[in-house]
Amino acid sequence: EINATLAVQWIEKTNEKIQENKEYLTSLDRPIGDGDHGLNMSRGFKEALEKVKAGNYPTPADVFKDVAMTLVSKVGGASGPLFGTAFLKMSVATAGQQVLNESAFVKGLEAALDGIKQRGKATTGEKTMVDVWEPVVEWLQDNGFEPEGLLAEAEGAMNATKNLTATKGRAAYFKEKSVGHIDAGAASSYYVFAALAEVLG
Ligand code: ADP
Ligand code: MG
Ligand code: MG
Repeated sequence: EINATLAVQWIEKTNEKIQENKEYLTSLDRPIGDGDHGLNMSRGFKEALEKVKAGNYPTPADVFKDVAMTLVSKVGGASGPLFGTAFLKMSVATAGQQVLNESAFVKGLEAALDGIKQRGKATTGEKTMVDVWEPVVEWLQDNGFEPEGLLAEAEGAMNATKNLTATKGRAAYFKEKSVGHIDAGAASSYYVFAALAEVLG
């Protein structure tokens, strides 16, 4: 079950992982992008955490909404509006509920995934964050919140982006040369889900 306090902890853990791996995320974005993903994510989640730590929220949806607004306004790159849309859709889908049970929260994550796909006009296999979000959301639908399994699924999905050819985002300009590199947004999405596994575990 997830309440507003746990939702804030999720953002706190995510931020911790993003800050720790800021250079790594940037190094992924350098060969097949513009080398700013670590900076974009670290700025966005630092601000999002500051915002939600200062708040007193009745529902997880209220936390997700402020995270969304912060990411959209503070992150310049493609990832800001994409993660922002994810948290906004999660907020709308879970609105008004003080405590989210597993099925309510998975519905929120489904809405987030749909939001990312719509916003990015992307589907699976295009070497984007969708290639982590979709398998992980499907895995949660089938298995529920089992932290170790969730972590393994997210990690496997992230690593699998290495073999894909990018057809969306900046990496698409590199065509076949994008093969052999993990997608940066897939890696940051992995940290989002690894943080979730930790706060649920
Ligand atoms: P930018 O490409 O504007 O510099 P970032 O480097 O912060 O933005 O984020 C790049 C990440 O965003 C990619 O690694 C990919 O996961 C994701 N991304 C980019 N375009 C799309 C899209 N159209 N649909 C889904 N995800 C995308
Ligand atoms: Mg970039
Ligand atoms: Mg950029």
